Amino acid sequence: MKYISTRGKAERLDSAEAIIHGLAGDGGLFVPDEMPKVSMDFVEGLKGISYEERSEKVLGLFLTDYTEGELKSCVERAYGGGKFDHERRAPLNIFDDVSVLELWHGPTSAFKDMALQLLPQLMSTALRKTGEKDTVLILVATSGDTGKAALEGFRDVEQTKIMVFYPEGGVSKIQRLQMLTQKGSNVNVTAVRGNFDDAQSGVKAIFSDEAFGSKLAEHGVKLSSANSINWGRLVPQIVYYFSAYADLLSAHRIQAGDEIDFCVPTGNFGDILAAFYAKCMGLPVHKLVCASNVNNVLTDFLQTGVYNRKRDFFKTITPSMDILISSNLERLLYHVTKDAAKVKAWMRQLSETGRYDVGADVLGEIQKLFWAGYTDDAGTKAAIRRVYEAKRYVPDTHTAVAWDVAEQYRKATGDKHEMVVVSTASPYKFNASVLEALGEKIEGLDEFRLLDLLLEKSGHPIPAGLDSLRTAKELHKGVCEKDGMEAAVGAFAL
Ligand SMILES: *Cc1c(COP(=O)(O)O)cnc(C)c1O
Repeated sequence: MKYISTRGKAERLDSAEAIIHGLAGDGGLFVPDEMPKVSMDFVEGLKGISYEERSEKVLGLFLTDYTEGELKSCVERAYGGGKFDHERRAPLNIFDDVSVLELWHGPTSAFKDMALQLLPQLMSTALRKTGEKDTVLILVATSGDTGKAALEGFRDVEQTKIMVFYPEGGVSKIQRLQMLTQKGSNVNVTAVRGNFDDAQSGVKAIFSDEAFGSKLAEHGVKLSSANSINWGRLVPQIVYYFSAYADLLSAHRIQAGDEIDFCVPTGNFGDILAAFYAKCMGLPVHKLVCASNVNNVLTDFLQTGVYNRKRDFFKTITPSMDILISSNLERLLYHVTKDAAKVKAWMRQLSETGRYDVGADVLGEIQKLFWAGYTDDAGTKAAIRRVYEAKRYVPDTHTAVAWDVAEQYRKATGDKHEMVVVSTASPYKFNASVLEALGEKIEGLDEFRLLDLLLEKSGHPIPAGLDSLRTAKELHKGVCEKDGMEAAVGAFAL
């Protein structure tokens, strides 16, 4: 299988090359040039095997230039070794009316681990396979979660280094501690005196500085990124949709061939796009419900066909969904239209005018599969409380958005298919908002007291990665000005 650009440039790469490059030469995203198809036998064959084995089978359909042995070792390093605190890695929690797919049992307690544990393994294997001798330096600007998940994934991975910039004073105490205590021989964490946009612009400027790029190249260093435009970060996410279906079969909740719905809390459109791939491959999916917060650019798009990022930006209690440009939508548009020229024109309109309109036909195609809704912070908190009161289960804020939108969807359509709510973070990661939703007074309590309080409410153990922060040593003291980031990269990499 080869990988091509959504914007039409005539390069056809193996998956290993697509993963090393990250972005296509014309600024487009890499997509597979054909869709692998699976039978119901394939899906039924996923029952009764481990998550690692499920991953090998699904990944093997897309990463055809990796050997079975290579995939097996990548997957074992990613999900094995005690890094996940649940033996099923992505367990499905089945309630009377919905099932909840818990994707936060990895080392940083958010679903980013599902992909960011595997991407570094796929990348280091790709470097070996393609005979690349350079070291890949991953640069990340983070507002909190991605930085830590990327650090955990890339730590001590051969032929790679990782450097994370975060805004000084701009991340939560727990997030800051998670990053500053990071172990590993190839990692660096630096605070930037500025806000997240300064850190992000700084990283972009470093990527586009050709003179600096040549200097790095002379020293055998190549820059790359770990965000969800990389195919190596998207493909691991397809696995857990198959895994959820297999678990529903094993639990006799559905029969082979029955269609199910997924409701996904969405930001960059990566997670829900992985479900779209699963559906295209033949997994019996009826609807994909796209759940947003008040930054509801995707709700509007999926309802009207107009994508318009020119709107107010809101800070919410679901920060991982506070996003106005959903990069991965470009991949969906390509697969629905199979017309790279059209996609390229829309993306140009988006960058020049902030808006594009896909028209009634394309919208109609998309609406056959997608439904969209959103909720605000008050709705999110009400959903946490409602779920807790009905089930004694504590969802995090992002999961609660999806839960609420799933209910809206069922009310609006009367759809009775099995509904899987995708749960993207541990409630401990967003403990203050969750406790407030449950009616607790949290003023003046420090982060660790909040962990204890949530333990009393939820009864679910505090994730080890968060609990251990109480005593962990801060290892990274670096701070730089916003115009000093390139020098900091030089000091680390050269
Ligand atoms: C990143 C993230 C999301 C959004 O996922 P996308 O793939 O960007 O749509 C939702 N919830 C949490 C907790 C996240 O970290």
